[in-house]
Amino acid sequence: MPSRTGIVKDTRYFRHETSVFHPESAKRLEAIYKMLEAPDMKDKFTLIEPAYATTEEIGMIHEEWYIEAVAKTAGKAHTYLDPDTETSPESYETARLAVGGFNNAIDAVVRGDVQNAFAFVRPPGHHAEADRAAGFCLFNNVAIGAMHAIKKHQMKRILVVDWDLHHGNGTQHSFYDDPRIIYFSTHQYPYYPGTGSAQEVGRGAGKGYTINVPLRTGPGDNEYVKIFRTILQPVALEFKPDMVLLSAGFDIYFKDPLGGMKVTPKGFACLARILLDIADSCCGGRFAVTLEGGYHIGGLTDSCKMVLNEMRGDTRVSDEDLKKIEAEADRSIDKIIDTVKDQVRLYWKALQ
Ligand SMILES: [Zn+2]
Repeated sequence: MPSRTGIVKDTRYFRHETSVFHPESAKRLEAIYKMLEAPDMKDKFTLIEPAYATTEEIGMIHEEWYIEAVAKTAGKAHTYLDPDTETSPESYETARLAVGGFNNAIDAVVRGDVQNAFAFVRPPGHHAEADRAAGFCLFNNVAIGAMHAIKKHQMKRILVVDWDLHHGNGTQHSFYDDPRIIYFSTHQYPYYPGTGSAQEVGRGAGKGYTINVPLRTGPGDNEYVKIFRTILQPVALEFKPDMVLLSAGFDIYFKDPLGGMKVTPKGFACLARILLDIADSCCGGRFAVTLEGGYHIGGLTDSCKMVLNEMRGDTRVSDEDLKKIEAEADRSIDKIIDTVKDQVRLYWKALQ
C-alpha cells in the first residue's frame, strides 16, 4: 500500500560536484539519505523515481540558448557559470534529474499515489534565472514544477512558498507578471541576491501575486509562524491554489553557517503544518516540496525529518500550539508584517 508521503531520493544526485570548501556539496544529501535509512524512518515513504527532464520541460522557464550553454559543460572539468556556481562533468545531467525528480513528485501527488511528496534533489534551483545560473543553482526546479503543474495537469492556480534564507530571485522573475502563481518568500534582507524588497509585488496582471517578507537577522520559530499565519494563510485561503509547492531551504536553521535566523527543527514542523493545513483546505492536501539550501548538516537532517513526520501525519502540530507560538513572537516583527500587508492589501480582501 502506498504511504501518505513520497520521497525522491537517488544517489545520482551526488554526481554534481563542487569544490572542496563549497557549502553546497553532496554531503548534504548523503546525510539526509542516511537519516532516511535509519530504523525509525526506513520504509515509511513511497519512493518516487526521478527522470531526466527534457529540454522542452526545462524550456518552460529557461531560454533555449541557456539550456544549451549548460549542456555544453557536460563531460568537461570544473567550469564556473557564475562566481558561486560551478559545474562538474555530470552537473548538467544531475540538474536535469533534479528538475525531473520534482516534476515526478508533483505527478505522484496529482495521480494520488501519495498525498504529498518531498524531492531530496540537488543542485538547488530558486536563484536560477531564465538565462542565467546563480547562487549554486542551474535550473529552477520549483518554477519549472509550477509550470509543469499548470501545463501538464491543467491547474489554474499554484502557490509557491519559499522559506529559504535567500530570496528566490529566479522564481520571482519567472512569474512576476503571472497571476496564476503566487510567489511568497521570507528571506534575510538586505543580503544575497539583493532582490526581495517588500515593494516588489509583481507587475501588470501579476500585481499582488508576488509577496516578499524581507527580514533582518534574528527571527525564529515564533516570528516565522506569525508571518505565515498573518500574511500567507489569509492570502492563500482567498487564492485557493490547486496545489501548494515549497522551496524548502534549511539555511534559516539557528546554527546555519550562512544565515542569521533562529528557526529550530520544531519551527520547521510548525511552518510545514501551516502549509499542509492550507493544502488541506484548498486542494485536497496536494503539497510538494523541493530542497533548496541548508548548510548545517545536522540541522538539515533533523529539520527534514521533522518536516517529513509532519507531512506523513506521524506528528501533528495543533492549531492551539501554533496560536501559542505566534503569541510569543517578538513585537519588532509587527512593523515588517504591517509594511508587507500595506504593499499587497489592495489586491487581497483577506488583508483589508
Ligand atoms: Zn539559501
